[in-house]
Amino acid sequence: MRAVLVGPPGAGKGTQAQILASELSIPKVSTGDIFRANVSGGTELGKKAREYMDRGDLVPDEVTNAMVKDRLAQDDAAVGFLLDGFPRNVPQAETLKGMLADLKTHLDVVLELRVDEDEVVKRLSGRRSCPECGRVYHVEYDAPKSEGACDHEGAALYQREDDREETIRHRLKVYREQTAPLVEFYEREGLLATIAATGSVDAVTARAKAAIE
Ligand code: ADP
Ligand code: ADP
Ligand code: ADP
Repeated sequence: MRAVLVGPPGAGKGTQAQILASELSIPKVSTGDIFRANVSGGTELGKKAREYMDRGDLVPDEVTNAMVKDRLAQDDAAVGFLLDGFPRNVPQAETLKGMLADLKTHLDVVLELRVDEDEVVKRLSGRRSCPECGRVYHVEYDAPKSEGACDHEGAALYQREDDREETIRHRLKVYREQTAPLVEFYEREGLLATIAATGSVDAVTARAKAAIE
């Protein structure tokens, strides 16, 4: 399966991508995770991406598209993939379509996670992430077994720089202006499946599976 998850920051894309990718035995490709790993590793890519990420703006398309092209060319992505956080605007979606056409393939489904902005702000302000494995938690809604530590690696959880209130507001504006038009784009392509991303993580997973099968 070749699938994309779309939804505002905090909709639960990373949470669901992790669960679905493991159940479907396909790699999860999260552009945000790859950028953050490169920022913390101090790579050239990380240096190019950092200022945009800290402001809550999109990293320029040429940088992002080249990174995704490399990632999808890796062997594990030949069986399929679940994209989390890419594409983020219509030009990226056009580029993805071209990349897949070059590989003689295409997307199977785009899953839209719908949730209102008040809920998103609550989710993002309580989000905590594992620096080792990228697993995300929430201080209230999805707490780790031991406070402040990742369940399977024990690493100290951290709060993302861009999960501060002002940056959250800006990211939501970027979503409305640049990413939301993808919903119509994929509807026209006949690929869109939309679900409510509210309720428990398990309830959302069940809806997601029913929608993409
Ligand atoms: P998986 O979920 O299969 O482990 P990821 O896409 O999360 O795959 O990649 C794992 C790690 O490998 C990332 O966190 C990142 O550090 C690195 N990585 C993967 N692809 C790239 C890339 N194209 N450019 C730079 N680093 C990458
Ligand atoms: P969220 O979990 O809030 O949806 P991500 O982890 O997907 O956020 O992305 C964090 C940041 O990484 C974005 O605000 C942006 O700066 C950058 N980024 C991630 N994916 C893309 C993309 N497809 N295009 C441009 N920038 C991206
Ligand atoms: P995204 O990748 O779309 O930005 P995340 O998967 O990182 O979203 O989730 C954002 C925050 O919301 C995290 O703290 C996560 O633990 C929490 N979360 C995810 N799904 C749910 C849910 N169904 N109910 C409540 N909180 C959730």
